[in-house]
Amino acid sequence: MLLFLDIIPYITIFIFGITIGSFLNVCIYRIPLGESIATAPSHCMTCGRKLKWYDMVPVFSWLLLGGKCRNCKAKISVQYLIIEGVNGILYVVICVVNGLEWSSVIYCFMASALLVLSIIDWRTFEIPFCLNVFLFVLGVAAVILDRGNVVDHLIGMICISGLLEVLYLVSGGRAIGGGDIKLMFACGLILGWKRIILAFLLGCVIGSVIHTVRIKVSKVGHMLAMGPYLSAGIFLAALWGNTWISWYLSKLGL
Ligand SMILES: [Zn+2]
Repeated sequence: MLLFLDIIPYITIFIFGITIGSFLNVCIYRIPLGESIATAPSHCMTCGRKLKWYDMVPVFSWLLLGGKCRNCKAKISVQYLIIEGVNGILYVVICVVNGLEWSSVIYCFMASALLVLSIIDWRTFEIPFCLNVFLFVLGVAAVILDRGNVVDHLIGMICISGLLEVLYLVSGGRAIGGGDIKLMFACGLILGWKRIILAFLLGCVIGSVIHTVRIKVSKVGHMLAMGPYLSAGIFLAALWGNTWISWYLSKLGL
């Protein structure tokens, strides 16, 4: 019984996560098309039928309908289910690892924005500006929560993004995208300088490993969307960065 009571908050967090997840699906489709994410009601992509509330229950509706539109039986991409489920799981992981803290709220919204921008960047090689603005607003909130370390956050904002900006100018925009720079600017403000440097290193390592494998296996082009890899690095650094950094410093005897 005690165990059950203990997991109730996490079930609630999961349900909240999958609900936000279904909004993320709307963002993933509409932001690249320049459509409004707030006004137009959700509809079937094939027959245009407006969806009822019971068709929009995250995860469960997709499973109950067997991944098909209730009206025209057109297939509904499994991506809906995956994004909702993944977002729910990410929220639970964040709250378990980071605790039920205010900073977890910031990390949850950050993880959702990273999820959306990763998929959009993967498909279009473009990180939408509005998502970086959203992350920057989260950064301001992170600074307000962590008022004692304002300087850490401000250095975090410019240390990696400044380096990338130099790279951008030197390479004439070929080595790195402007969206990646803004991403590191905004998330540097959220994480502070130590963790954004770690995030960047992790992103580069994960990116080079996966991209090398992809080139070998599927002969994808050499064009590399950095957003998903940087996002993975940012997520890992947000949750485990402080632990890993202090472990590393203790090994150095610092
Ligand atoms: Zn339909």
